[in-house]
Amino acid sequence: MRVLHDIHGGIHPPERKGLSQPGKLASLGLPPRLVIPLRQHLGAPAVPVVAPGDTVLGGQLLAEANGVMSVPVHAPTSGTVRAIESRPIAHASGLEDICIEIETDGLDQWVALTGTPQWQECEPAALAERVRDAGIAGMGGAGFPTAVKLTPGPKRPIELLLINGTECEPYITADDTLMQCFADQLIEGAAILAHILGAGAILIGIEDNKPEAIARVQAAVTKAGASIEVASFPTKYPSGGEKQVIEILTGQQVPSGGIPADIGIVCLNPGTAVAVREAIVDGKPLTHRIVTLTGEALSQPCNTLACLGTPIGYLLQSTGWTSEAQQRVIHGGPMMGFAVSNLAAPITKITNCLLAPTEAELPLPEEPRPCIRCGHCAEACPASLLPQQLYWYARAKDQEQLAEHRLFDCIECGACAYVCPSQIPLVQYYRAAKGQIRDSEQERARSDNSRARFEAREKRVAEEAAAREEKRAARKAAAQQQADNGGVDPVQAAIARAKAKKAQQDAQQ
Ligand code: SF4
Ligand code: SF4
Repeated sequence: MRVLHDIHGGIHPPERKGLSQPGKLASLGLPPRLVIPLRQHLGAPAVPVVAPGDTVLGGQLLAEANGVMSVPVHAPTSGTVRAIESRPIAHASGLEDICIEIETDGLDQWVALTGTPQWQECEPAALAERVRDAGIAGMGGAGFPTAVKLTPGPKRPIELLLINGTECEPYITADDTLMQCFADQLIEGAAILAHILGAGAILIGIEDNKPEAIARVQAAVTKAGASIEVASFPTKYPSGGEKQVIEILTGQQVPSGGIPADIGIVCLNPGTAVAVREAIVDGKPLTHRIVTLTGEALSQPCNTLACLGTPIGYLLQSTGWTSEAQQRVIHGGPMMGFAVSNLAAPITKITNCLLAPTEAELPLPEEPRPCIRCGHCAEACPASLLPQQLYWYARAKDQEQLAEHRLFDCIECGACAYVCPSQIPLVQYYRAAKGQIRDSEQERARSDNSRARFEAREKRVAEEAAAREEKRAARKAAAQQQADNGGVDPVQAAIARAKAKKAQQDAQQ
């Protein structure tokens, strides 16, 4: 029996997970158009390899990766490319980004897929490359390119692969549904990931509010005869943070500013493991994902396996959405999600939930009041930070103190804001402060570069001036010597002597 460890802080908001009936997958059909962003992951956007007017098949490459921190994008079904242009995307900024629009043909014809069921015989590096070519980025929310996580380098040997099935945020049941519906695939995906990483142990962690998922995953492990441990632990928000789940299950702490690989652990989402299995065993790129559609403004909340690029509005209309005045649609959950400003925006590889709450269900935030220094935020913080201090320093734009108080260890879970009696939107301050610090660092790097370029130029100019001065001094010395020789240029005299000698030799011959 695994020894569990508690983390600091945490909260117990109403879970409301039953609303979307985890464990069942609803079919919502194929939308007439898909809008596929070129950036669905952390890092550089993919580069299109198709053009408007091209017909494409499901699984066909639409855009290739642009560097190591990038992943390609593939067509989720067959159809015709209608446009490659800026479109609204689901992002907190509300900005647009370049997307490929496909008019679907309803035939769902696919390219021939070539899988490798005998993956045990393949080199880990070759399999990691296949994961990258399949366009897989972490499906738990951050969208970190998975192949980068799978190649931590020789200085970071990996002992443990941890599949994080916590899914602690209220309302969201996409991972729960995936673990119930695709338990066998999850087990094989985890085995492939451990093979790539060279990890000796595999642990699947699931919160105890998902008994069906725990039972199905455990049954799949037994069926496969796999050496995989399934551990359940008490439900608390935000136990699903990477650092938090590692501490709960292993007692180890990831160092501040470090990554799990620094302590020999790689942590991946169950959806990522299933996508890796599809990529390797079936040869299928990442083109679909499970999305929870929930909230009381929907008459048929559910989980569905949706094509990447499906417009959010299409999914909501397909689940009996009745919009009310001031209707909000949240991408993600109520704690860490953000409001979507345009329902034409599509779902992406990181969309785990679309929440359409009624106002009675999730009231709009009240006007913030002054901080009363109650300290509840510090009690709730899972990263043992001082949220109230961070709030003051963020307001004062004191970057030194923000760094001193470990702002970048904040996982933006929102637990502090949830308990704050003054309704201060603390996370917004932290996000803004992080953005300002990143901007300052970029500005500093830019000015360091400019200074280095200026200094290099100054050095070159000085060296050229010194060389000119040296030549001038040499000329002056030569002229002085000529004057000392009675006006005879010593160089010209030497040349004349050589010519005379040669003429004498010619005459003698
Ligand atoms: S919970 Fe809110 S009011 Fe209380 S100390 Fe923290 S920021 Fe201030
Ligand atoms: S948002 Fe940041 S500061 Fe607030 S509780 Fe979460 S980790 Fe702590």
